Amino acid sequence: MGTSYVVASGKGGTGKTSFVAGVGAALARLGHRTLCVDADIGLRNLDLVLGMSDRVLMNFADVITGRCTLEKAAVHHPHLPNLYLLTAPMARDAAHIQKEDMRAFVQAATRQFDFCIIDAPAGLGSGFRLAAAGADRAIIVTTTDSSSLRDAQHTVMELSDYAMRSRHLVVNRVEKKLLRKLHRSIDDAIDTAGLPLIGIVPEDPKVRLATNREIPLILMESRGAAQAYTNIAQRLCGNRVPLMKI
Ligand code: ADP
Ligand code: MG
Repeated sequence: MGTSYVVASGKGGTGKTSFVAGVGAALARLGHRTLCVDADIGLRNLDLVLGMSDRVLMNFADVITGRCTLEKAAVHHPHLPNLYLLTAPMARDAAHIQKEDMRAFVQAATRQFDFCIIDAPAGLGSGFRLAAAGADRAIIVTTTDSSSLRDAQHTVMELSDYAMRSRHLVVNRVEKKLLRKLHRSIDDAIDTAGLPLIGIVPEDPKVRLATNREIPLILMESRGAAQAYTNIAQRLCGNRVPLMKI
């Protein structure tokens, strides 16, 4: 039985999709069958970030409604055979999906995959609740901005309604030039969100570059954010990896 994670933030643009793509690709490269699920209904872009937009035909609503099996709908990455993607439906096709449907779908996915990582939409509305409904663990991605931290805090509060087995924090876009303030801001992030830290990801222009080239970052780079994603993937596998030096 695999493990499922919802990756959420409250605020948009904190780096959730980049994180799901980066850590998903790293888990796959470590040899784990990994399914990334885009739950950003109507605004999906995980397929682009993973460089799989030309492969996607079916979405998770097709699986939930029985139009297609999970085996057929989940497409695998051309260069990472353990990495699979299931994209999000358009809003009109998702309107009737209930939380129980999502729960059953994610449970079925964890019988076939070691990891199922769900990319939640921004906000705490129905799309977020659907994305969170099936997952047994949560990862909150925040930057060190106070507005992002406050949203992370709200997301944590919202998630307390869900029986999650664990909740962790990722601090993204950590800047070297703020080094002196770094420990302060990371400590503040942990305190504000009230969650244990599972990793920090540095500000790294290669994240956007990889997205523009439609290639998973870890396939073009091994340092910076790529290294951070790999370290976090290792931690999700239960390995002890020291926090990276920024
Ligand atoms: P979300 O899914 O939370 O809306 P994205 O993953 O789409 O966020 O990221 C938003 C923007 O921030 C994108 O342009 C992405 O390339 C950029 N970004 C994300 N993480 C980093 C990082 N560690 N360093 C630099 N840019 C980043
Ligand atoms: Mg996103």
